[in-house]
Amino acid sequence: MKLLRLRPGKERSLQRRHPWVFESAIAKGGGDAGETVRIESDEGKFLAWAAFSPHSKIRARAWSFDEKQRIDAAFFAARVQSAVAARQLFDLQSDGVRLVHGEADGLPGLIVDRYGDTLVAQFLSVGVERWKSVLADALLAATGLAKLYERSDASGREREGLKPEAGWLRGSGPTELAIREHDWQLTLDIASGHKTGFYLDQRDSRRRFAELAAHRRFRRVLNCFCYTGGFTVAALAGLKAAGALEGAELVSIDSSLPALERARAHVALNGFEGANCEFLDADVNAALRRFIEEGRVFDAIVLDPPKFAPTVAHAERAARAYKDINRLAFKLLAPGGVLLTFSCSGGIGADLFHKIVAGAGIDAGVDGYISERLGAAPDHPMTIEFPEGEYLKGLVVVRK
Ligand code: SAH
Repeated sequence: MKLLRLRPGKERSLQRRHPWVFESAIAKGGGDAGETVRIESDEGKFLAWAAFSPHSKIRARAWSFDEKQRIDAAFFAARVQSAVAARQLFDLQSDGVRLVHGEADGLPGLIVDRYGDTLVAQFLSVGVERWKSVLADALLAATGLAKLYERSDASGREREGLKPEAGWLRGSGPTELAIREHDWQLTLDIASGHKTGFYLDQRDSRRRFAELAAHRRFRRVLNCFCYTGGFTVAALAGLKAAGALEGAELVSIDSSLPALERARAHVALNGFEGANCEFLDADVNAALRRFIEEGRVFDAIVLDPPKFAPTVAHAERAARAYKDINRLAFKLLAPGGVLLTFSCSGGIGADLFHKIVAGAGIDAGVDGYISERLGAAPDHPMTIEFPEGEYLKGLVVVRK
């Protein structure tokens, strides 16, 4: 059994059941990549069983804080089962579901999404990489499914000293899939789409946008960073429900052409004829500036940019980038219009994001009510011990 001894005073975070041990906290000891190590305080007190990661700044990720717990196949089967069972607690209104959300489910580095009868997994730490085969079997057993595709090609793998990997881990089948979200049909390709193929975390905010569209009967909608058009479909669904589809104008912007093509297909797939939909392959910042010059205004704007700040180290530059696009969006918002603005940066906290958006409004000379706070759907849970789990935050701002 390998041992990791911490420096004096560095035991506190593990005692609060936070799962990460940074390089700087370690006095001595180690192991192979992903090997289970026993972590002890400077005084030799047991703190946790953890996966050792020789290359990452996060040098170990805890599996368990129970000294009697064996880290074996039965342990992983139980963790996977409880993660899958937890999703039954929520009425998700979708057959696209995040089944395992890393640290929040006691499986640091493992992401698993279910799209209908197909599972898609990302193994993003050496710990879950080492147990990949055991985890794959546990996932199929817990769900009763037969198909598991791997998308371990996210950037976090490099920090762990791992190479990208993708392909079928169990079973096989088409990678082009269809899911139902709320009452909408959506498609995705698990081999080529972003992340595992789709942004499931924005499900509740898309539904909220549909409700706002129905209630306020938006005439001009701008969906920035639209990916495959989730918020566009939401707005169209809301307008259709309110009988207000005819003549509505929706502009959707993204810099990915395949994503835009799929967004366009989603409009046809859901029978939203009557509205005027435009799909722009452009840089959002440049497009917003052009719209301002052209004197355009919108009744609703969505800003859902990619992660500008992966960690706190990038926060300052990211803050400027967020402020910039929000200021431009405010300038395009009609009086009474609604801005849905998001940050999925772990490095930007909810309070800071609030300040950035408020600052952007002030710079744009716009007054507004911050009427709602939005966040990730409940199958992307936060836990008490792991505040870093709150990565996605959103605000609904109504211009006075
Ligand atoms: N709102 C989407 C998810 C957005 S993800 C949904 O609900 O599914 C962020 C998107 O921003 C990606 O599709 C990416 O292609 C796009 N993107 C990144 N940088 C961009 C830029 N500078 N201009 C336009 N789009 C960009």
